[in-house]
Amino acid sequence: MESDRPYDISTLCVHADDGADEQYGALVTPIFQTSTFRFPSVEEGARRFATGEGYIYTRLKNPTVRQLELNLARLEKGTAALATATGMAAVSTMYFGLLSAGDHVVGTDGMYAPSRLIMEREFSRFSVACDFVDTSDMENIRKAWKPATKLLFVETPANPVLKVADLKACADFAHAHGALLAVDNTLLSPILQQPLLFGADVVVHSLTKHVNGHSDALGGVLIVRDAERAARLRKVLINLGGTMDPHQAWLILRGLRTLALRVSKSQENARRIAAYLSGHPKVERVFYPGLPDHPQFELSRRQAKGPGSMISLIVKGGYNAGVALLNALKLHVLAVSLGSIESLVQHPASMTHSGMTPQERAASGIDEGLVRLSVGCEEAEDLLKDLEESLKKC
Ligand SMILES: *Cc1c(COP(=O)(O)O)cnc(C)c1O
Repeated sequence: MESDRPYDISTLCVHADDGADEQYGALVTPIFQTSTFRFPSVEEGARRFATGEGYIYTRLKNPTVRQLELNLARLEKGTAALATATGMAAVSTMYFGLLSAGDHVVGTDGMYAPSRLIMEREFSRFSVACDFVDTSDMENIRKAWKPATKLLFVETPANPVLKVADLKACADFAHAHGALLAVDNTLLSPILQQPLLFGADVVVHSLTKHVNGHSDALGGVLIVRDAERAARLRKVLINLGGTMDPHQAWLILRGLRTLALRVSKSQENARRIAAYLSGHPKVERVFYPGLPDHPQFELSRRQAKGPGSMISLIVKGGYNAGVALLNALKLHVLAVSLGSIESLVQHPASMTHSGMTPQERAASGIDEGLVRLSVGCEEAEDLLKDLEESLKKC
């Protein structure tokens, strides 16, 4: 793939839309906002059903959605990409498609909470068992492993304390035990990390985050290495029904064209902010894979092109000080989500990770006073000033 596509990933993003409209040559992919497609004859309709070629019905295939899928597969260096209505539709389709009753899953303990919760609370009803462990230490994966383990699902860096799992070691271990490795790559995007290159079998993204980037659309994707597995997952997706709408695909294609620019600007800002916060007297601890005191700093440098734009911090004074900081910030938006062009700030214990018990949060290293910053593309000086003034108030 690399050899016949010699362009840099940032160039591929800018040209994500080239060549989609053969009829009029529109530079930007049109929104094929149709639920169904007219067959010119019964014979042609029959041919499309028999071969899967051409278009039948939007839940099965749609030209706008397909353009997004082709681009995402190319960016992640996968064989096929399957666009979904949300990131969680991608995760649940993957679970449905890869697992059967009696199977066991090992996953990252602090991963995006619903990815863990549906496994623990819903798939357990169908006799799929799971264990969620700190996957930044291979020893924990070894200990949790069972003969029935069929899937290792890691999020790295893991939301919200940004522990990093060793992608190559995870892939080798899973494969040596007859299992698959799936990676939630939402936090870094394909610009900074490409898990398939390290041996992962499936990559998941919430496109709602960096790829769309403008806080105005939801979406998800599964990117798959093996063509047969992709075809099987496609059948599951189509019949479960979590497919993407064409208008949504168009918005995300628009976001995708500036993905590399946004990721690079927000990461540049995050590096400055992490350095500033780690020297601040009111800050007890900063979690950022780009800081040399991060436990997986070296590993992160080896497997990712950069540490990304997510920073977590614990303000001195615990829960109340964290709340005071959040309420004082003016430019940072108090909102969940991440990877937006705007800087967002949230409190995991009361927001994104409130579905976990305090014990589960403690076991995953999520302090009750932890604050999570998703750094955006504003001017760094403005963000630093907002933080500086707000830290005075806590
Ligand atoms: C947001 C998110 C998801 C879920 O995506 P939705 O688009 O909200 O369904 C999954 N994983 C990670 C890491 C996320 O940040």
